[in-house]
Amino acid sequence: MAAAQVQRMSRLMVKTLRDDPADAETLSHKLLVRAGYVRRNAAGIWTWLPLGKKVLDNISNIVREEMDAIGAQEVLLPALLPKEAYEASGRWEEYGDLLFRLKDRKGADYLLGPTHEEIFTQTVKDQCTSYKDLPVMLYQIQTKYRDEARPRSGVLRGREFQMKDSYSFDTTDEGLAESYALHREAYRKIFARLGLDYRIVSAVSGAMGGSASEEFLAPAAAGEDTFVDCPACEYAANTEAVTFVAEAVDASGVGPVEELDTPDTPTIESLAAHLGVPASATLKNLLVKVDGEIVAVGVPGNREVDLGKLGEHLAPAVVELVTAEDFVDRPDLVRGYVGPQGLEKVRYIADPRVAPGTAWVTGANRADTHARNVVCGRDFSVDDYLDVVVVEEGDPCPACGAGLRLDRAIEIGHIFQLGRKYADTFQLDVLGQQGKPVRVTMGSYGIGISRAVAALAEQTADAAGLCWPAEVAPADVHVVAAGKALQIEVALDVAAQLAAAGLRVLVDDRSGVSPGVKFTDAELLGVPKILVAGRRAGEGVLELKDRRTGEREELSVAEAVARLRG
Ligand code: ATP
Ligand code: MG
Repeated sequence: MAAAQVQRMSRLMVKTLRDDPADAETLSHKLLVRAGYVRRNAAGIWTWLPLGKKVLDNISNIVREEMDAIGAQEVLLPALLPKEAYEASGRWEEYGDLLFRLKDRKGADYLLGPTHEEIFTQTVKDQCTSYKDLPVMLYQIQTKYRDEARPRSGVLRGREFQMKDSYSFDTTDEGLAESYALHREAYRKIFARLGLDYRIVSAVSGAMGGSASEEFLAPAAAGEDTFVDCPACEYAANTEAVTFVAEAVDASGVGPVEELDTPDTPTIESLAAHLGVPASATLKNLLVKVDGEIVAVGVPGNREVDLGKLGEHLAPAVVELVTAEDFVDRPDLVRGYVGPQGLEKVRYIADPRVAPGTAWVTGANRADTHARNVVCGRDFSVDDYLDVVVVEEGDPCPACGAGLRLDRAIEIGHIFQLGRKYADTFQLDVLGQQGKPVRVTMGSYGIGISRAVAALAEQTADAAGLCWPAEVAPADVHVVAAGKALQIEVALDVAAQLAAAGLRVLVDDRSGVSPGVKFTDAELLGVPKILVAGRRAGEGVLELKDRRTGEREELSVAEAVARLRG
């Protein structure tokens, strides 16, 4: 093994801070700044200092190795892009304020790339002409630009950030599925090597179909995404993707529908209080417009309708809330007192919890009146069952039935079967086996490289500082010379031996810095192993400390070298 370099702290540009930066809210932001890994230039714009750059490069290299291993080829496209391609795809407009737009000296429009589907499509159109040239997978590790509304949390959400983006090009749907599966597997290897705790969740609702798009989430308190996590089994999902499986119940014991005089009870709370029943016994009927037509959506009174979920289920139809005007010609719709029984002219969508045989208190379609014993399947029918309620803590896991947890996470990766959207825009065809042109189908796959630094810091840091997993750490071992000249001499000597054995070594050889400060710095910097040349250095005895567990042991120099090498 080639000798690695020894990095001497006395020559390293690193200024550690004892206090958290005033603007920092998240742990990773505080610690990466305090440990001298990054430095802020402007909102969401960061300098990577020497130690930070090492971690960033280690992550990039792991990603590069695993992308190469699935046969993806590395390229580097420009970050400064002419407007035309993004105008063709519609994203010049669609991106809105997120896009950094600029003009050149001649007044022509440019943008700083937020992601590169358009340019990769053009590249492949230019380079590949026959089915024999495909499949092809291309990737780059590049600086991306997005004018994020809230560039908080340090490098977790930058306006300039590093992303690995890759794109697959296939002639068949099976080919695309294969390229997607290869990426999924590569991502699993990458995140395992990074030492990251992660979950794979479906990024779209069940209605749009399974695995066409999945996100890799790193559970962390600082995360901006909420996801559902089952404490009892492997199940994890995007909050929008959770589906409840309802079972029919026996309603033979339920009496006939009974109307109730319920003055001034237009809300679920007022109704439940008036009747002395729990909100969960009432059926709430939300009216919405779907492509202009009024539709009722029934959910238990204690649950909220997730309009985003409803919109996804019904897409491409457009869902809007109703306004007072919509009731002008509709005497059949009594606002606040709608019930599905007798709603003949209205399509009725219900949550699966409104299962056949369930009995409800609901509106009687007359002002100030409700009805009880309204049984699903007997007194009203459901046109479509759609899971549209906001998922809540404790809802049953669709896989095993245990109570779900709602947790926070950081999105670190995203894989997506794009299909032919961009190929259609740019007419990306290759000559097929039969001599006819075939439209290409694409996948796109991202990993937040700079975000992964922060995600790892979030998951692994403790009260004393950063605590890197082995493969991403800026060094394998941090040798600390407690103070005196002799200790510095021993430390430099053991550092040289460790480097000769192929280890990446950081050695604190600073003179005139107290041992206390050096130990505090070592904990803050977060190298996984700390080797101290202290009190017994003269006798050739060193102390090895595990940064994560805090375990210590005394070893001879030779033992320490052998141990760290193993
Ligand atoms: P988010 O929902 O967090 O804004 P996104 O869905 O817009 O992310 P993608 O377009 O899928 O992200 O980008 C691919 C990856 O790039 C993401 O999974 C994430 O890890 C990373 N990423 C996206 N935006 C940023 C950012 N502003 N700063 C750092 N990394 C980012
Ligand atoms: Mg995404």
